[in-house]
Amino acid sequence: METVVSGIRPTGQLHIGNYFGALRNFIKMQYDARCLFFIADYHALTTHPDPKSLRENVRSVLVEYLAAGLDPNVATIYVQSDVPQVAELQLLLSMHAYLGELERTPSFKEKARKQPDNVNAGLLCYPVLMAADILLHRADKVPVGKDQGQHLEMTRVFARRFNTIYNTDLFPESQAYNFGAELTKIPGLDGSGKMGKSEGNCLFLRDTDDVIRKKVMRATTDTGPTLPDSPVSEPVENLFTIMKSVSAPETLSQFQKAYADCSIRYGDLKKQLAEDIVASVAPIRERILEIESNPEYLKQVLGDGAAAARRSADETMCRVRELMGLC
Ligand code: ATP
Ligand code: MG
Repeated sequence: METVVSGIRPTGQLHIGNYFGALRNFIKMQYDARCLFFIADYHALTTHPDPKSLRENVRSVLVEYLAAGLDPNVATIYVQSDVPQVAELQLLLSMHAYLGELERTPSFKEKARKQPDNVNAGLLCYPVLMAADILLHRADKVPVGKDQGQHLEMTRVFARRFNTIYNTDLFPESQAYNFGAELTKIPGLDGSGKMGKSEGNCLFLRDTDDVIRKKVMRATTDTGPTLPDSPVSEPVENLFTIMKSVSAPETLSQFQKAYADCSIRYGDLKKQLAEDIVASVAPIRERILEIESNPEYLKQVLGDGAAAARRSADETMCRVRELMGLC
C-alpha cells in the first residue's frame, strides 16, 4: 500500500475552498492508501504567531479535520511538534542542503520580499523541513496544490542526494498524488479568482446558516445577460463553479440554461446556492461543536496519532542514523 503524507499550516479556520478543494479528496484518499495527516505547527513558527493563538489554531484545525470526515481509526492524524524526530531529520538533511539552492527557492524569495524584517533561517530551511515531513515516513505520494510543486521537487533532490551519498535506497522519490479528476479551485464570492484566508473572502466551515446566506446573497454578479448565449462574466462563472461542487448536476444545468436564454434571476441562483452550501456545511459545523465539547476524545486522538507517527518516524530515523555513522 502506498504511503501518503499531507500537512496543513494552522493559520485559522478552514473555509469551503479548503474543504471542496483539498479535504474532501483527503477523506476519500484515506481509504485507498496509508495516510498520515499532520498539523504543521513548526512551519507556522516562521511568522512568529503568538503562542496562545498558535495553540488555539492547532486545536481548531484538528477539530475541523475530524468533523469534516478524516477518520483517526483509518488515517494517522498528528501534530508535527508531537513527533520531534522530524526536527532531527531536518537537521541531518540540512547538512546536504546548500545555501544557494535554498536561497533560490521561489517561495523563499517571495516570503523574504513580503516580510523583509523577518527573513529568519527557519524560512530559509522551510523546504528542508518539508522534505523531512515527507521522508520521515518515506512517503510515495504527497497531495499538493500547484503552489507546492517546487518543494516536492526539492524533496526529491534531497532524497536522491542522500541515497547517493550513503549508497542506499532508503528514501523514495515522492510524487504528487493524482486525484484522478481535475483539482477544483473554489473561487471567492467577491468576483475574485480564489477563495483564501489572505483574500478575506471566505465562507468558513464554522459559519452559521444565516452567515452563509448573507455572504452568498452579497456575492458579486453583473447586470445579467441580454442576448441569448452571451459569454458568462467571471463573477457569475464563479457562482456556477461553486454550484458545481455543492449542488445537484440538474440544478447547475437548470441555471446555466436560464442564463443562456436570459431568463435567469441572480436572486434565485444565490438562494439556491446558499441552501445547497448550507446543506453541505451545516452537518460539518454541528460535528465541529460536538467534537469541540469533548476534550477527552481530542486528547485521545492526538495521543494515538502521535504514537503511530513516532513509530513510523523511528523506523526511518534508526536507518538514517546508522547510515550517517551516528550511534
Ligand atoms: P492562505 O491564503 O494563507 O494561503 P488558504 O486559504 O489559501 O490560505 P492554505 O492553507 O494555503 O489555505 O491551503 C490549505 C489547502 O487548501 C491546500 O491544499 C490548498 O491547495 C487548498 N485550498 C486553499 N484554498 C483553496 C481554494 N480556493 N480552492 C481549492 N483549494 C484550496
Ligand atoms: Mg494558500
